[in-house]
Amino acid sequence: MNILAIGAHADDIEAKCGGTLLKYKAMGHKIFMVLSTTGNIGSNSAASRSEIEATRKKEQLAAARLFDAEVLFLPFDDQLLEDNPTTRKAMLDAIRWADPDIIFTHDPSDPSPDHWMTSRIVTAVVLCAGSRLTPSERPPIDKSPSVFFWDNGAGVNFLPEVYVDISEHIDLKKEAISQHESQLEWMSTFKENDLFETFEVISRFRGIQAGVQYAECYRAFRLRGRMPDFKLLP
Ligand SMILES: [Zn+2]
Repeated sequence: MNILAIGAHADDIEAKCGGTLLKYKAMGHKIFMVLSTTGNIGSNSAASRSEIEATRKKEQLAAARLFDAEVLFLPFDDQLLEDNPTTRKAMLDAIRWADPDIIFTHDPSDPSPDHWMTSRIVTAVVLCAGSRLTPSERPPIDKSPSVFFWDNGAGVNFLPEVYVDISEHIDLKKEAISQHESQLEWMSTFKENDLFETFEVISRFRGIQAGVQYAECYRAFRLRGRMPDFKLLP
């Protein structure tokens, strides 16, 4: 299968569904990653927006290597993502590029603006994946991908429907997060000084709920004519 993860910022994907993607990879599936913004405000020490954008691209590509993943970067500014014809077309192009069987992305209830906006755009355009007349640089695809929303930051206001046991992949998940070196400093701006502790605790917390050591959790996108296939989860 083709597995597509769509995050707003470099590091969102590894932090929220990294263990699940590593599990898919171990099963022989192909991983694709799309970033909906450039992450170009994510530093107080970089000299410019273009400098931190370049740094984060490099970090994302280093992380993606651990998943043997292909990465597509969309050109939209950090914290300014909008739902408009340009962003919808770019997202539809990205989905068609990956030709996915399953898509993971942010939850619509995530309070971070780029996060819920990414979720909104993904769920708006996924319906058009097979539509010939919707503007796109790429031809329609035959698949109807199932869409799953990943956990909110620190699990706030997120009621999981399904869990994936990532116990065997927690160390590599932490290694993937550690590739985003610039964000370790940026997160300290928000008084969050140990990203590894944060993601270890959250994965363990979700693991306790699921009766395993470490887990990631999801909710499904539902729409008449496009129901999720939970059997696709690893
Ligand atoms: Zn983010």
